[in-house]
Parts: sequence; C-alpha cells; structure tokens
Amino acid sequence: MKTKTLKKDKVNIVTLGCAKNLVDSEVMLTQLKGNQIDAQHESEKDDSNVIIINTCGFIENAKQESIDTILQYASAKEDGRIDKLYVTGCLSQRYKDDLEAEIPQVDAFFGTMELPNLLKKFKADYKHELVGERLSSKASHYAYMKISEGCDRPCSFCAIPLMRGKHRSRPIEELVAEAKHLAKNGTKELLLIAQDSTYYGLDIYKKRNLAELLEKLSEVEGIEWIRLHYAFPTGFPTDILDVMREKSNICKYLDMPLQHGSSKVLKLMRRGTTREKTEKLVEEIRAKVPGIHLRTTLIVGHPGETEEDFQEMLDFVKKCRFERVGVFTYSHEEDTHAHTMEDDVPEEVKQERAEIVMELQQNISFENNQKKIGQQFKVLIDRKEGGYFVGRTEFDSPEVDNEVLIDAEKHYLRVGDFANVEVYDATDYDLYADPVQ
Ligand code: SF4
Repeated sequence: MKTKTLKKDKVNIVTLGCAKNLVDSEVMLTQLKGNQIDAQHESEKDDSNVIIINTCGFIENAKQESIDTILQYASAKEDGRIDKLYVTGCLSQRYKDDLEAEIPQVDAFFGTMELPNLLKKFKADYKHELVGERLSSKASHYAYMKISEGCDRPCSFCAIPLMRGKHRSRPIEELVAEAKHLAKNGTKELLLIAQDSTYYGLDIYKKRNLAELLEKLSEVEGIEWIRLHYAFPTGFPTDILDVMREKSNICKYLDMPLQHGSSKVLKLMRRGTTREKTEKLVEEIRAKVPGIHLRTTLIVGHPGETEEDFQEMLDFVKKCRFERVGVFTYSHEEDTHAHTMEDDVPEEVKQERAEIVMELQQNISFENNQKKIGQQFKVLIDRKEGGYFVGRTEFDSPEVDNEVLIDAEKHYLRVGDFANVEVYDATDYDLYADPVQ
C-alpha cells in the first residue's frame, strides 16, 4: 500500500508596520522554530507554502498597505502557489469580522494577543521556556526590545489602545534575561520600544521604574548601546536622566513623540500637557544630559488646527531645535476620540504643513551637522552600500535618523563593528567621515 508523504510546511512571516510588530514576528519565528517548524522571516525566496502576514492598522496608508499585501497573497493562494494564508497583527485585531467577510481566501485571522491560537494551526504549543530567546531578524548587531505592551493614554487621534489593549510592563528579570540572550547572539545595541516607555512599571511595580530597568540593562555584558524610544512627556520620570548621564552605554539620545507645539491643539489631542510644560521639560532634559539628541514626532492637520496653531507649531520647532523630527499628517481613524470631531483640515493643507515643518527641520539638521565637521565619533557600521560603509553615531536610530558614510574604496570596516571616525563633510542628514585610531 502506497504511503502518502505529508508535505512538510515551510512558513514565511511577512511583517508590516512598526518595530513593535517586528518584535512580535521575531517571537512568532522563535516559537515556530522551537516547535521544529521550518519557518523564516521576510524570505525573498518563493519557496514557502504557508504565509503569515503580521499587519499594521495604525493609520490610513498603513492599513491600505496591509490590505494590499493580504490580497497579493490571497491571489497567490488562488493560483495554488501557496497552500495556507494566515493574517495577524493590528489590522486583523481591529477589523477581523470585516476582513473575514471580504477576503475568504485567508484561512484564519488572529488578533495581536493570539499567538498560542495561531501556533495551534501547526499543531504546535506556545513554549514559555522560549520567552526571552528571541532572535533579532533585522541585523545581528542591533535588536529592538519591547519593554511593555498596550497603552493607557487617551490621545484623541490614536487607535493603538484599541488594537493593543491596556498597558502591560514586562518584568525586569525577563527583560534582562532577553538582553543577555541577545548579547550572547551578537547584539551590541538594544533599542527599547513600547507604546509609552515612560509608563514602564506603573502597573507591576506601582511606580515609574524605567530608571531601574535602564540601570539593570546597562550591566548586561556585551551591550554597548542602549537607546530609548517612545517616551511620553506627561509624568516624565526625570530620574532616568541621571542614569542616562552616568551610564556610558546608554545613548545620549531620546525619542519623545510630542505631536504638537500649540497648547490649544495639545488639549484637543488629550495629551495632558501644554507648550510651556513641554518646553520646560526639553530644557531640563538638555541641562541634565549635556549633548543629548532629541527626536520627536509631530502631527499636522488634527481637527481644529488653524493656520495660527500651525504657526505656533513652527515657532515651537524653531525654539526647541530638535535634532531629529518626523511628521505625520492626521488620519481620521474611526472609534478614536478625534473621529467625533470634523476632519476640517483639507488633505492638501495637511500635506503642505508637513512639508513646511520638514523644510524647517532640514535647515536645523544641516546647521547642526555642519558643527560636527572636525569632530570624532564612535560609529556602529550597519551595512555596505554604493561604495560606502554606512553607520550611525549614538545619536542616530536605524532607518529613521542620520547616517555616517565612510568611503569603502579607501577604508575597510566590518558590518556590525564599532569604528572611531572623524567627520570631514556633512549634508542635511548625512555625515562623511574617515576612520581614526
Ligand atoms: S501614548 Fe498616545 S499616541 Fe502613543 S500609543 Fe498611547 S494613545 Fe497612542
């Protein structure tokens, strides 16, 4: 009797959205591999018969990209190029019922907290012993680490709490164990991420405990850079500033989305702060951590934002001179508080305002970079590209901030290594440098 050979599944995970989603995909990959399932992340090879799409549901553009990706693989399934298609992540959490009705080719949709159920599709169990054993998929020398999940903030424009639930901090011991595991596997830079990293500990330690977490992580051998992202201005735990100043392996870098510079719009956004308080906090941060580089994110076109409010935003950006700025145009997201308001700023005005902010920031960045000519910096080499080794200083986060270009014709460096360099030229967002001893 002929025995039927069962085709062994080969899984490819496709990640959309933010670094927090990337970490979830890396955890998924670790769990699948931990169950002896042949799985890979973002494989370019077309040899997988099972696809898992980890979607983003944050704003309109991101939602559209997620839907397009699902439809792309839905047609691959119809053509018989893949056998199974699973969808998880924020878009799936937020619109599961609609998606199930509209895209029946998908075998199953899962929410953001349903990894154990997804694993069951592979007759696999969620292995608690693998918590903290995640492998970084982006690069071996840097890794994102999610210190908490969810968010308790009421920001008017934001749908994230709808998709990620209430704030849940991960215990310090678990995070230190994960950092040790990552360091053992070559990670030198840890990027701490959350929805609101400064809320860390309020749930499990009944106090803001980010300072203690930073202290403990800075003791992990092999971790040379710790970078803090997604700080929130209201209730900011200033005790972390002392740790940042004192610990040489904590980057003098802080990402703190501020969203706007007009107190009136900050009130409409339910950010719980004012322009004055924000400027005072920025001054305190700069005073307590000399040389710190501040990254912020701003939203233009929120309902109720007038030309006058926008001018105040520009004035705020000019005054605070952030080293790094990202701008989003407001997206009218259903079920958010802002969705009860009229989306009264025309799309073209939103775009125009975003461009004006980035033009202003381009000049600020150019002026700052000119001052770096002749200075020496420690640089982490990320890749080789177009005749250059491309790296970052402690003031630059991957994929969003400035880069340092080193001529690969003249110099040889290794990706993943640190190098000391001296800057000889600079543009608005790049520095050109040569290695020094
Ligand atoms: S802090 Fe505000 S903007 Fe950030 S995830 Fe929470 S609700 Fe959204």
